[in-house]
Amino acid sequence: MTEFSASEIEAGRLLFAGECSFIKGAVALEGLPETAGVEIAFAGRSNVGKSSLVNALTGRKTLAKVSNTPGRTQELNFFDIGGKLTLCDMPGYGFASAPQPKVRAWTKLVLEYLRARVNLARVYLLIDSRHGLKATDLPVLDLLDKSGVSFQIVLTKADKLKPGELEACIESVRAAIRKRPAAFPVIAATSSEKGDGMPELKAAMARLIAERA
Ligand code: GDP
Repeated sequence: MTEFSASEIEAGRLLFAGECSFIKGAVALEGLPETAGVEIAFAGRSNVGKSSLVNALTGRKTLAKVSNTPGRTQELNFFDIGGKLTLCDMPGYGFASAPQPKVRAWTKLVLEYLRARVNLARVYLLIDSRHGLKATDLPVLDLLDKSGVSFQIVLTKADKLKPGELEACIESVRAAIRKRPAAFPVIAATSSEKGDGMPELKAAMARLIAERA
């Protein structure tokens, strides 16, 4: 992970130390909240640990659960972080048996969102560190490259790996994204369960805000 100074780590801590609240869910472009400040989005296969990560970042156990009730309409869910940052939790993808219309609806919603949000600073694409990149992640990488939105890979569930496995996963993901124009070259590793990588991820978001101030 990128090195952060003590003051950047502190800025990250402060960013998430205040009020974090659910803004709204949107099923279509018309329903998006007004753009406000810097926005960051989280994407990933279903079950990758996206709700757990949002909850670990915000220190709330249930904040992101609204988005993940099985069978619900695919929604973009927006959270306000202390009035300084908007987080967008994208609907999970990659159900093995997902019907084509559902995949098409997901792609349309996400593509429209990526094109519409001028304040979107980065997409964090979550990848389960036990599995690495899967075939279902590749169209999403293509979508991000096509939209020209800067994205960074965040490995989840790092606590489940044996020593050495995390490094191997980081290396294979790094090699896979090397030629992707929109990919941020640093791979972040996290564990929502143990808190690993959280201070750095918060600091990275604080840095994105500072860069755009
Ligand atoms: P989502 O579908 O991407 O929102 O995934 P969830 O956040 O609901 O997590 C899916 C499963 O992975 C749940 O059983 C979580 O408890 C588990 N999980 C998520 N993050 C971690 C983690 O950092 N470590 C471990 N060991 N399990 C995790």
